[in-house]
Amino acid sequence: MQELTQRLTGAFGISGYEDEVRAVIREEIAGLVDELHIDAMGNLVTLRRGTGGGRRVMLAAHMDEIGAMVTYIDEQGFMRFAPVGGLYPSICLGQQVQFADGTVGSIGLDGRADRNQAPKLTDLFIDVGAGARGEVKQKPGDPAVFRQRFAAQGNAWFAPNMDDRIGCVVLIQLLRELKGKDIAHDIYGVFTTQEEVGLRGAMTSAYAVNPDVAIALDVTLTGDTPHATPAMEVYMGHGTAIKVQDAGMIGHVGLNRLLVAAAEASQVLYQMEVLTGGSTDARAMQVAREGVPASAVSVPSRYVHSPSQIVDRRDVEASVALLRSLLRGPIQL
Ligand SMILES: [Zn+2]
Repeated sequence: MQELTQRLTGAFGISGYEDEVRAVIREEIAGLVDELHIDAMGNLVTLRRGTGGGRRVMLAAHMDEIGAMVTYIDEQGFMRFAPVGGLYPSICLGQQVQFADGTVGSIGLDGRADRNQAPKLTDLFIDVGAGARGEVKQKPGDPAVFRQRFAAQGNAWFAPNMDDRIGCVVLIQLLRELKGKDIAHDIYGVFTTQEEVGLRGAMTSAYAVNPDVAIALDVTLTGDTPHATPAMEVYMGHGTAIKVQDAGMIGHVGLNRLLVAAAEASQVLYQMEVLTGGSTDARAMQVAREGVPASAVSVPSRYVHSPSQIVDRRDVEASVALLRSLLRGPIQL
């Protein structure tokens, strides 16, 4: 699983440009699913057919990550940029970014800004080491992502895009572990696009899949760093997290009851997650068509939407184990 995580976190995949990630996932799930297609929004929609008598279960993990998009290039070749998703200026300064063609840039601070204050996004620029605009290959509209590489240290895994490559890892690993097993349910594993800019891929794919039950696989914040604000009782290394509520949805009570029972039946370490900001693909799936019972299974991650996100390998494994346990039994809500 570590190798898979390293591979997925190394792929370029800002919202709207998920091609490279999708190509890696396609390779990794070859032979694990019965059907596969790419829809108009770029979602990779797969089906692992059940033995019958089960439910249509949609599991969604988003392929895209946040980043920056060039808006303006000055005469010296410095590029101003707009956010793609939740890109916070306070964590941008001094970072390296990478464009789709591999071009690397450093994020610098406009000299007119106060160095002792948190910068605004408009105070920052990307510097590709050029001396003039003519030396810059980039154009307005070109996207870039944080460049930090994957690292493993004990149980901790580091990467700038654990949100949500680690959800893709959970889904792929689950399909690997279900190979050859008798499961009644039809499992629609959907690798979605454009989650970070408004859950757009999940919205259209949930309409098409028309599931009986839907679960998003994503990351959540943690309350275990110094004076974490807001305080929350989700901790890295303390197991997978079952979504009770976030800013966009309330996890389906019956489905959550089933998830808790599945965790306890298989002795999977779990935590109940109440997140006060943000949401996941579960929100889009929940309000698809006439409504779908939905929740999310989250991997706790420190420093989400920063270049230095951390997850605990054991929480990733617990997320896979929880889903495996759930899918083994009947899903009656
Ligand atoms: Zn996410």
